[in-house]
Amino acid sequence: MEKSGERTKNSAQLFLSQNNYLNGLKCLKYAWYYKHRRDAMPAYPAATERVFDYGHMIGAKARELYPDGILAEGPPGFGSRLDYCRGLLERRVPLFECGLIFENAYAQSDLLIPTENDKWEFIEVKSGRGIAEVNYHDVAFQHYVYSNAGLDIRHCYIMHVTPGTPAGEDSDPRKIFTKVDVTERLSPYSAIVEDKIREIRTVLAMSESPEVPPGKQCDSPYRCKMYDLCRQSADA
Ligand code: SF4
Repeated sequence: MEKSGERTKNSAQLFLSQNNYLNGLKCLKYAWYYKHRRDAMPAYPAATERVFDYGHMIGAKARELYPDGILAEGPPGFGSRLDYCRGLLERRVPLFECGLIFENAYAQSDLLIPTENDKWEFIEVKSGRGIAEVNYHDVAFQHYVYSNAGLDIRHCYIMHVTPGTPAGEDSDPRKIFTKVDVTERLSPYSAIVEDKIREIRTVLAMSESPEVPPGKQCDSPYRCKMYDLCRQSADA
């Protein structure tokens, strides 16, 4: 769903996805490459790809908890899919990956669940055994977009795999997850969303990538795929 390669001189209008936002928090150089030159980024090693595959499997497990849910894939084309997702909200059933947009900032939640009185709650599913700082930023961004797009969000959750619990293809999804209500913890992360969106958009609107010195961000949560390239240019 990423609109890779899109550029505009007006950074305030630049399309900014959830991935763009999280990438920008991690590293502005990475975010720029992801947005404009993904073709120039090396592939992740097989071990990292296996981590991603595991994450996808855990995401599918979480959906099994909501058998009446709908995966909001929709028709081809970004605008058509947005319309489709908007229409799905009327059905008041659990929605998976329902994409909404506010002022060209785009979010899609793993699980969007209707609650009483036309309200909603959403759940960010993590394959890790706990909650990392970036997960709060992720939820805060989703909350910002969803709320401003018109949804009344009652609660936000992060659901991770319970520590000490093996989780595989055959696991019972009712037995592997810990669901944490993080609504009350979001304020410091929500408070910076607009500033961060502005900052990241400004960088993404640049015609060249910013120079960012290698640092802790290069190995968190796994080694960045740009690592060797950045090391080479830092050593040159
Ligand atoms: S290797 Fe480090 S500096 Fe280079 S893009 Fe990745 S996170 Fe940024």
